[in-house]
Amino acid sequence: MTISCVLFDLDNTLVGIPNTWNYFDTLIQDVLKMDYSLSIPSKDERNSLWRSGKEYVSILKRWGVSDPNDFWIKFDERDGIKRRKLIKENKLILYDDVIPTLKKLNNMGIKIGIVSNTPDFIIEYELDAFKLEPYFDKVLGLGDDQSICKPEPDGINMILKEMKGSPAKTIFIGDSEVDLIAGQRAKVFPIYIDRNKEKRKIFDINPKSYLKITSLLQIFDIINRPQEDGKSPAESIL
Ligand SMILES: [Mg+2]
Repeated sequence: MTISCVLFDLDNTLVGIPNTWNYFDTLIQDVLKMDYSLSIPSKDERNSLWRSGKEYVSILKRWGVSDPNDFWIKFDERDGIKRRKLIKENKLILYDDVIPTLKKLNNMGIKIGIVSNTPDFIIEYELDAFKLEPYFDKVLGLGDDQSICKPEPDGINMILKEMKGSPAKTIFIGDSEVDLIAGQRAKVFPIYIDRNKEKRKIFDINPKSYLKITSLLQIFDIINRPQEDGKSPAESIL
């Protein structure tokens, strides 16, 4: 199959954050409470922020945050401190399949990159903690500009331009719905990594529009699969 580029999400795709939902939800609450002295919105309201893309401005304003960009600056500061602590305490996990997958892709001459909603300075801590940086051709952190974060396709579009990759020959692997939506919008082949084998997990998008795997090594089944005439890899499989 003519895959020339493989893109990964970072958090919970390559590197695991324990109790992720709780980790980020606590951060939201800390910023609202400690930086702005605002009351805490409902759980559903808080949850909506993660899928909001460009809508984040109206959500934060509804909560009483007058400068949404300032909110993310404060959020990233607290995230940075908290993430460094996790690394120091060896609480971040590098999944077993990551190094074998990256090495194999490198050996095959396939370009690899990261598109993450986390800001670059935090990505650097994480890549450094596990010595991952040398495997990647390009790493893109979107956290500094919330309006281009996934589910927006901007990050994938930007990195493909820099890597001179074509969407039809690219797969993008992530662990959440925003990754799949961003992948669809960027017209790459979206793959969902279900590390916890959550059989019942259902997203709001067509299940036929992405592929589900439980180990990164399964991407080689796709890469090594014979290509059907005139079809992109995604069209051949989905
Ligand atoms: Mg993730």
